[in-house]
Amino acid sequence: MADTLRIAASRLQQALGLDRGEARLEARILVAHALGVDRAWLIAHDRDALAAHQAAAIQALIARREQGEPVAHLLGEKEFYGRLFQVTPDVLIPRPETELLVEAALARLPKEQPLHVLDLGTGSGCVAITLALEQPLARVVAVDRSPAALAIARNNARRLGAANVEFIRSDWYAGLGVKKFDMIVSNPPYIAAGDPHLHRGDLRFEPNSALAAGTDGLDAIRAILSGAAAHLEPGGWLLLEHGFDQGVQVAALLARHGFGHIRTLRDLAGLERISLGRRPPGTG
Ligand code: GLN
Repeated sequence: MADTLRIAASRLQQALGLDRGEARLEARILVAHALGVDRAWLIAHDRDALAAHQAAAIQALIARREQGEPVAHLLGEKEFYGRLFQVTPDVLIPRPETELLVEAALARLPKEQPLHVLDLGTGSGCVAITLALEQPLARVVAVDRSPAALAIARNNARRLGAANVEFIRSDWYAGLGVKKFDMIVSNPPYIAAGDPHLHRGDLRFEPNSALAAGTDGLDAIRAILSGAAAHLEPGGWLLLEHGFDQGVQVAALLARHGFGHIRTLRDLAGLERISLGRRPPGTG
């Protein structure tokens, strides 16, 4: 077992350009998954010999990872805000920086009130479901235009026991009628269509529609902002995730659409990642 882990780690290090620590961690995660055991079991059985079928399962999984397939796709799940979400190539893989969107939203949702929250482009449902579970009184509506994504999101809500989320197939606000919300959140696609990052790493295996948004990456954010006032109660908050270099532009767009209390928040890596604003009260 120890040899298998060492060899797997060095293959991953070479193929993916990981550092040693990352490669060893990934090797342990993938070997544990191939064997259907947890990582504590691997440590306890470090000296065990592997059966041929076990060695073959490990080889197959490491080979897929060497080709670049995301770990989340190989495991079929990804942790977000302390919970495991089912993930397939039909949805964006939940990212740790998006937890900041959730935290900023929770900080602006009064606890004891049955507020209405809208999540635009829900993908795996990670944002909507986390908000629903953290704020059981909230009524969350989550939309996506992809039926395949909605199927994953609905399954995640069921598995995680979030009964206060409703999923609707909709292209942004198109399917929502005149309903107004107390808060709108979104982690929309925000990468420029020509950005070379789209051809690197995990992004190659994720839906382009969840990643790219026009020549400057701001098409989706502009679409969300144009419909925001019509779907937000006076005094309601709009929170948007965006690229590390889009904070100034998104804050300016929020101002142009009449929002107040505008702020841009930095993620754990120190990058501008979330911009938010409040629809002025008394603008019925
Ligand atoms: N809301 C989902 C997430 O944050 C999907 C976002 C997207 O597809 N752009 O992971």
